[in-house]
Amino acid sequence: MAVLPIRIMGDPVLHSPAAVVEEIDDDIRRLVADMFETMDAAPGVGLAAPQVGVPLRIYTYAYVDDDDEPWRGVLINPVLWMAPLEPGEPDPDLEAEGCLSFPGERFPLRRSERVLVTATDLDGADVRIEVDGWRARIMQHEFDHLDGILYVDRLSDRDWKTVQKIAKKRGWGRAGVSWMPGVDDLEG
Ligand code: ZN
Repeated sequence: MAVLPIRIMGDPVLHSPAAVVEEIDDDIRRLVADMFETMDAAPGVGLAAPQVGVPLRIYTYAYVDDDDEPWRGVLINPVLWMAPLEPGEPDPDLEAEGCLSFPGERFPLRRSERVLVTATDLDGADVRIEVDGWRARIMQHEFDHLDGILYVDRLSDRDWKTVQKIAKKRGWGRAGVSWMPGVDDLEG
């Protein structure tokens, strides 16, 4: 297993739709093991294959809060249904989101409160996940990655301008920029 470099905003692989996984073979199993290791090293609550440069419809997730069992898994070829968005502006604290592909920053974003995801697990079995709150946010964020959408693409015009400034200052927003969990001092 290996920790993989995480691509940063601007790399084309993050901005293009990912392809369906046709067969779960040893390459896919190795990739998923590396994705778990990379996500944990970052650390992050989710990681999509395009973030490690692989344009396939796979993401891992891991989240734990105070009173629950750890929630962790991998979804292959997921399909997502969302409850309608609640109207209004996102709360700047409670609804702030981050991304390992735009590391070290958080911006508020309104997400659907509840989602249903169906997918295949690493054994090829059907998975069905119905979650709300922060787990629903993680599902929407990671699913977006598979369609070539970063959460910063969904921000208000004002925050998007801030994103552009940060990207320019750090030399992001172009192909081939990545960071290495455990080496570079960045986090989602
Ligand atoms: Zn992300």
